[in-house]
Amino acid sequence: RAKEQGRKGFQFYQADMSQSSRERFELEADLRIALEQQSLQIYYQPQVCLASNQIVGVEALIRWPHPEKGMIPPDRFIGLAEENGLIHPLGAWVLRRACEDAARWYQQGYALRVSVNVSARQLNRSAFVSQVAEVLQKTGLPAKYLELELTETYLFENFTRSARVLRRLQQLGVSLALDDFGTGYSSLNYLRRLRLPRLKIDRSFISGLPENREDLVLVSTILAMAQSLGMKVVAEGVETDAQRQCLADLQCHEYQGYFYARPETCAELEARLMRLSERA
Ligand code: C2E
Ligand code: MG
Ligand code: MG
Ligand code: MG
Repeated sequence: RAKEQGRKGFQFYQADMSQSSRERFELEADLRIALEQQSLQIYYQPQVCLASNQIVGVEALIRWPHPEKGMIPPDRFIGLAEENGLIHPLGAWVLRRACEDAARWYQQGYALRVSVNVSARQLNRSAFVSQVAEVLQKTGLPAKYLELELTETYLFENFTRSARVLRRLQQLGVSLALDDFGTGYSSLNYLRRLRLPRLKIDRSFISGLPENREDLVLVSTILAMAQSLGMKVVAEGVETDAQRQCLADLQCHEYQGYFYARPETCAELEARLMRLSERA
């Protein structure tokens, strides 16, 4: 009986596997088409200075409007793209488009930094630094208006190599931010040696503010540590005014989150910038 059940279990398992691998296969084929047809979209989410309440930057977040499945969020296809190598054309497209948009804002008189998420696999390619340099040159965006968001996994997997790549990127004049801080395995020693300009506190630490004592202590500690390392801090996932106020009281530098604005299309962002500058 046990054997029979075991075998049945195995069959179900196999059926599940082929179902999910078929879905993966289809998603992969669809993603390839979306890339070729340039039907992916970038949404931008404002990053706001806590002291001045001004938009100082935007994060570029990719979206995939799928013809049948609707809007697919990045968490459902970035991992796949990293596995099958499509992250390279995808990442190149995001970088190029985000810099084109930011160069246009710059020409229109808006000094906005654009933050682009970069996967470990992109950074591990030897041509990455020259790719960034070429995009800046072709779009005319001054390097200081580009920021690359990196994750801890990349940085600490091969520290010597990543430190070298990051140094070369900083020599180009681009800014670097450590994304999702607190969720990975940061070594304080590495953090100190890397000298990254910015750090983003993961939203899982923000959601409990201001009531949750532990979160409050953790966020204050991260801010004190960043301060002593000379890093500026962005808080992610700020959803309420109480959270924003708490972060302002703690002297955090910037925040982003649904409280100020959800990620929006380039046209929506540009309309927002125009409204704000008319009011000023
Ligand atoms: P991330 O870089 O940490 O981006 C922040 C995520 O938090 C975004 O999710 C954003 O929409 C969401 N978010 C912002 N404010 C709030 C808030 O107040 N509440 C809540 N609950 N969520 C908020 P999104 O756009 O779904 O992106 C998920 C992740 O996908 C990103 O996390 C990033 O790791 C990755 N990703 C997005 N675009 C790209 C890309 O172009 N390239 C690469 N390699 N990864 C990307
Ligand atoms: Mg990010
Ligand atoms: Mg993040
Ligand atoms: Mg993330």
